Amino acid sequence: MSALDFKEIPRANTGDGRQDTFELFARDFLLYLGYQIDVHPSRGADGGKDIIVIENRTGISGTTQIRWLVSCKHNAHSNSSVKPKDEENLNNRLHSNECNGFIGFYSSVPSSGLATILTNLKRQFEVQQFDHNLIEGHLLKSVEGLQLAKQYFPESLKKWTDENPSPALVFDSETTLNCEHCGKNLLTPEPTGIIVYWHSMTAERKQRHIKNIYWCCKGSCEQHLKAANYERGYIDAWEDIADLKIPVIFIKRVMMAINQLYAGEKFSEIAFEKLKDVLLNVFPYAARNQTSTESNRIDSLLGLPAYLGGLGK
Ligand SMILES: [Zn+2]
Repeated sequence: MSALDFKEIPRANTGDGRQDTFELFARDFLLYLGYQIDVHPSRGADGGKDIIVIENRTGISGTTQIRWLVSCKHNAHSNSSVKPKDEENLNNRLHSNECNGFIGFYSSVPSSGLATILTNLKRQFEVQQFDHNLIEGHLLKSVEGLQLAKQYFPESLKKWTDENPSPALVFDSETTLNCEHCGKNLLTPEPTGIIVYWHSMTAERKQRHIKNIYWCCKGSCEQHLKAANYERGYIDAWEDIADLKIPVIFIKRVMMAINQLYAGEKFSEIAFEKLKDVLLNVFPYAARNQTSTESNRIDSLLGLPAYLGGLGK
């Protein structure tokens, strides 16, 4: 499903002063890609051109200049493809504007008839097409692209950012949690692995002792560290790092720690320091809006009676 809704850009025929927005977006998009603008979008009869951009290509024998005629068609509102009748006299338009390349910049897609015409045009000219998917792909892959998308697609980008969170810029540098057995970073590119809490098995009402906390990959790293930490009278509880980065689960974990301290549970010095490390390092990943997938995950997690093995209340 597309992330950007091109209907956020007003129709070209509204006459409300914002009818040029799609052409202005095309200009800014091509600037972002690195083209120079030779002729800016202008209102009124434009002689079959919307924008003209320049590309300087550097090769072994020098720099070649390509002059591109850009044709903008904003059909997203009608959801119709761009047809041959929308792009008439391409040869003449290119010649009269002294262009050697054609860019079709479309918020929908070209019809099969137009696609054939553009393919034939490639015998004489350079031809590029940007449809809504291609434009979106370029915008969502870089910080500069996201800034441009925010300007023209504010609603879509808000939704997209909420569903594709990146760590908040809280500290000077990116935080890490490296597996204590193999050293793999467990926070990026995707949070993986587990936090393991070793605490004493105690009779009712007797305070527990938390002797160690560490983080590792699931599987062999987990098994290796479990064997090394095993001690009679202690058991381990664990939680997924991917769950801990969910905002509501994160704050629940902070509350748990406060409750544990209030209840008089004893942390060893190393366990207490490592609990702080966990919270500080995961915090940038949790300081954000919750995604819809996470909302569903919370329902199932909080429904688990043994969530976190009963550690904390
Ligand atoms: Zn590991």
